[in-house]
Amino acid sequence: MMHEPYSEVTPLTGSLLYHWAVCSRSAWLYSRQITPDYDHEGLGLGRWISKTAYSRKVVREVSLPGAKIDVLDTDGDAVIVVEVKKSSRMVKGARLQVLFYLWRLKEHGISARGEIRVPKERKRIEIFLDGEGEAHLLTSIRALGEVLERPSPPPASWIPYCRSCAFLEFCWADDPQDPAPEANNPASEFQEE
Ligand code: SF4
Repeated sequence: MMHEPYSEVTPLTGSLLYHWAVCSRSAWLYSRQITPDYDHEGLGLGRWISKTAYSRKVVREVSLPGAKIDVLDTDGDAVIVVEVKKSSRMVKGARLQVLFYLWRLKEHGISARGEIRVPKERKRIEIFLDGEGEAHLLTSIRALGEVLERPSPPPASWIPYCRSCAFLEFCWADDPQDPAPEANNPASEFQEE
């Protein structure tokens, strides 16, 4: 198992990887327990969908170190890690999150595949922890570690996702104008797919 460059205060989690893939600043803020408004509309909807969409499945919210799996489903002998999202826009981050869960299960001797399910869009995206997936995961873990080691958060840098981010007011309170109108802003590499 690779060395994990995280202290016990800032453990490596799938959720941090997800946030890092969207915006490294948000991952740093979450890692320091700086949490956005709990009643933020987007967060609320995401939680509601996650709790209700697959309520008939027998195994829900399985916890492993740094991993809180929404649903563990089965298909014959296969184990399926299910991550429920409210939209497929942030699929890069969700893929990383699921890869991390598969990696954690593998450490416990459980071979599984993953699925990102988007009930609103009736979408399922399959994820496999193959060689490419594992290499991508380990590279991302190292990059996230470098961000979390910083004594202060990366500066705010406007991406279209900021508009729906729960840290919007925290990052842009001094800037009442949209700092980068979407039409003039090149798509971020983490932007919606
Ligand atoms: S508002 Fe934008 S810059 Fe700030 S944490 Fe969210 S995505 Fe990142």
